[in-house]
Amino acid sequence: MSLTDEQRTTAICREINAISQTYKAQRPWLRYQNALGLGIFSISIAAIVWAMYGYCIGTWSAWVAMLWVAFWTSILHELEHDLIHQLYFKDRPFWHNLMLAGVWLFRPLTLNPWMRRYIHYHHHKYSGTASDIEERSLNNGMAWSFLRLLTTADLLLAGALRSRKMRTEVRQLYQQGCYTTAEVRNLRRITLYGFLPLGIPLHFVWYSFLLYYTFVGFGVLGQLWGGASLSVAWASALASMPLGWQHYTAAITPLVVLLIAPNMWRQFCLHFITSNMHYYGDVERGNIVQQTQVLNAWWLAPLQLFCFNFGSTHTIHHFVVNDPFYLRQLIAAPAHKVLQRYGIRFNDIGTFFRANRYMGSKPA
Ligand SMILES: [Zn+2]
Ligand SMILES: [Zn+2]
Repeated sequence: MSLTDEQRTTAICREINAISQTYKAQRPWLRYQNALGLGIFSISIAAIVWAMYGYCIGTWSAWVAMLWVAFWTSILHELEHDLIHQLYFKDRPFWHNLMLAGVWLFRPLTLNPWMRRYIHYHHHKYSGTASDIEERSLNNGMAWSFLRLLTTADLLLAGALRSRKMRTEVRQLYQQGCYTTAEVRNLRRITLYGFLPLGIPLHFVWYSFLLYYTFVGFGVLGQLWGGASLSVAWASALASMPLGWQHYTAAITPLVVLLIAPNMWRQFCLHFITSNMHYYGDVERGNIVQQTQVLNAWWLAPLQLFCFNFGSTHTIHHFVVNDPFYLRQLIAAPAHKVLQRYGIRFNDIGTFFRANRYMGSKPA
């Protein structure tokens, strides 16, 4: 089809909107959007609390509880995104804010959702360009490396490792007129307070847990392969470890199993998918056709399971913003046909080798 991107955008928006409207008209229960949102919110939290209880009384194994919580928190993530777009209780601030607080409490490693609202709106406007801080903070646009893999799940580590570079870039973007003074001030506020009060302390709990088990793991490997001398050395090192550290690790283990590790895994899945289905670089400002691709290859299913099929449906959201996440999933099949017909890319695996650029090769 010889259409301009603007014409294609208009056509895609119109056709997917029509599919969504017809779908809703045929199912009147979809009109009760607030009740549906609150219902999904309550069921998800009940499912998480059930697993927490099961683990604490010893009927759930750590792995099952962890994956179960990760799955349900991925639904809370979708609800947060819908709430950011004011899709539930728009005119009833008490319920709206209660739900935002709930989805944050069970996903405490994430950015404060009231603050995220600002950078997410900016993402919709400037997706794929230098000032799209939301996607860029998830490694979008970086060439693949061990560092990118290591920081895919961990927002705090990614931010800390790149803080100097990002500060310089924000200053340059401000000088180029891509950010206003108020926006720069807002970004500074988000950096300072966005992961408080829970996010930063919980990240340090996670690091201390990893440090302890890395130490223990080295000891086990030493015993297996190193023979008697290493075994003795490790045993004495373990014995000299402060007893408080072992007690502390035992005390934080439930917190890690039931809240921190599930969210880290969920974030890895979501960030891996989102930072590769959004393009970065060579994207014209505001050109939705160039902003994203549909990433729904079968081999990504294990990751999609923990981000509510994000790679398959998020492109639909860029064109039609005001549908809740479950509706987007329900109309995915006909919506994909529309996207395909107008030339939106599907499973462009080359993005992994182009540092997510829309065209061309990797940046120098
Ligand atoms: Zn959005
Ligand atoms: Zn997006």
